[in-house]
Amino acid sequence: MSDIFNNEIFEAFAGAADNVYIYVCDMATDISRWSRSAVDYFALEDEYISNAATVWAERIHPDDIDLYTDDITKVFAGTKKTHDCQYRAKNYLGEYVWVECKGSVIRDNNGNPKIFAGLMTRIDGQSKYDNLTGLLTTQSLRDFDFTSQTGAALLFGIDGFRKVMGHYGYNTGDEILVVFAKKIKSMCKPNWKLFRFSGDEFLLLAFSENRKNICDFYKKVCQETDVIELKDGRKVGISASAGGVCFPEDADTREVLINKLEHSLEYAKNTDRGTLVFFSEEIARKHERGEILREDLKHCIKNDFQGFELYYQPLIHPEKQTIVGCECLLRWQGEKIKDSYPIEFIKVLEDYGGIREVGYWVMEQAIKRQVEWRDTYKNLWVSFNVSYQQFMDDAFEERLDLYAKKYNVRPEDMIIELTESCAVSNPKELASMFNRLRRRGFKIALDDFGTAYASLEMLKSLQVDYIKIEHSFVRELAEPGHDIDFVIIDNLLELCRHLGCQSIVEGVENSQVADIVGTMDANLLQGYYYSRPVCLEDFEKLLAADQETKEANTKDVK
Ligand code: C2E
Ligand code: CA
Repeated sequence: MSDIFNNEIFEAFAGAADNVYIYVCDMATDISRWSRSAVDYFALEDEYISNAATVWAERIHPDDIDLYTDDITKVFAGTKKTHDCQYRAKNYLGEYVWVECKGSVIRDNNGNPKIFAGLMTRIDGQSKYDNLTGLLTTQSLRDFDFTSQTGAALLFGIDGFRKVMGHYGYNTGDEILVVFAKKIKSMCKPNWKLFRFSGDEFLLLAFSENRKNICDFYKKVCQETDVIELKDGRKVGISASAGGVCFPEDADTREVLINKLEHSLEYAKNTDRGTLVFFSEEIARKHERGEILREDLKHCIKNDFQGFELYYQPLIHPEKQTIVGCECLLRWQGEKIKDSYPIEFIKVLEDYGGIREVGYWVMEQAIKRQVEWRDTYKNLWVSFNVSYQQFMDDAFEERLDLYAKKYNVRPEDMIIELTESCAVSNPKELASMFNRLRRRGFKIALDDFGTAYASLEMLKSLQVDYIKIEHSFVRELAEPGHDIDFVIIDNLLELCRHLGCQSIVEGVENSQVADIVGTMDANLLQGYYYSRPVCLEDFEKLLAADQETKEANTKDVK
């Protein structure tokens, strides 16, 4: 084979850009070599092809073929110096993409054509076709008049894609998107249109379809894409949620269609991942509330955390039945929204990034509080909640140091709880941060333990001081038919002992549950039975009463 192909320079150029393809042709044999990206993108048979002009003639749009043939013939005949033309060529999905092809002929010492080499560049890719998947971009949505036709639109989103990217890296993330797009595309009818919407989202316009057909289609897509097989043989399990809108009855303009699809997908992701949700009035109301909530939260944060407050819930020593610490739990009343629970407003804060500032506010308040109580209530531990997203903030350790020094807190008196351990995409990084914090004396707790497989997985890499056993196992412990909860808790406690960490059993709601848990070997208890989370004033009353009990107990012993 000609040595013009076995050339490191070819390799270097070939890998340089993902929307530029390079080629070199030995004109004596008419064999050409194409960069790997061209082979994949234009579904060529091999890197080496014979008679490239014929191969391309099959791929070039019929309207552009004469232009192409004319130009290339002139170049080969020597009447034109360089090949330079733009045409549409079919990609691996069977879609036409605009390319610009430029090349020159290199002649031998006798002036005979020897090598033809050049570049093919995808143009108009920004607006019309997506570089990665080759699908249409939403720019080209305006080319489709769906308002005068009936049909259904779907917006697919891969669940937890950020986490997938964090776990497998960007390149694998891209590969997953390409396989996913290819799969959906292969299942579409010829008159349907599939677009890369953004990131991991894909929009489908299924003309002449009704709601039922499109629901069946969605189910099939889920079945076909639940395991993505990568080039290197690895398999990645994924799930996709979707929002759905029928047109033109539910959307008579492009903007309305896109808005409604986005809101429906958001709703599906937040309430029931891995399902298709069609737009409804409830979704519209939820979305509107979310918008008001976000603005209200931003306004309050700007106004010196107006409306934010910490509530405190005691941690109880099981034998002594006294308070040994408390968990700080965030409460908020906005100017417009007065009835939002943490589960709702913390999600909004996390989604738009406001949790960062609020989290630091909670951190400072919790530390300040511990120091204020330290002299009166000896050895009182104070815990506060931190999500994975907060832990991963660059300034987290710096802020902790800052407040620890400012208030002169003893790190041993603070417990930092990791909420939502299932969202951890980089356990190694988190493990080294935990180790640094623990070396400085801070205690770390794994919250809501037992709710996700991820929490068990987490224990392999993370060393923690406390494991908090989720209240869903505990609350109904005394009810008939809940023997399995007892077995689960008992085994989780055994696991804690085995790992050398302390246990906190949450969700002790009544005396019957307290009695049962009392027979087990938990280190600390928490729940409504002892106290609901209460405001500062009420918690200080609880502390004062608890102090009296402790003093009375000491006198009794004397
Ligand atoms: P969590 O950390 O698991 O907090 C415990 C939740 O269980 C609290 O709900 C508490 O009120 C509730 N709880 C306590 N005892 C019982 C009981 O006996 N029975 C039942 N059914 N529930 C009980 P809350 O305060 O609504 O907090 C919900 C979640 O919000 C927390 O779950 C935590 O994940 C998050 N959160 C609260 N404050 C903060 C914060 O400052 N930062 C962050 N990142 N998350 C927070
Ligand atoms: Ca917690």
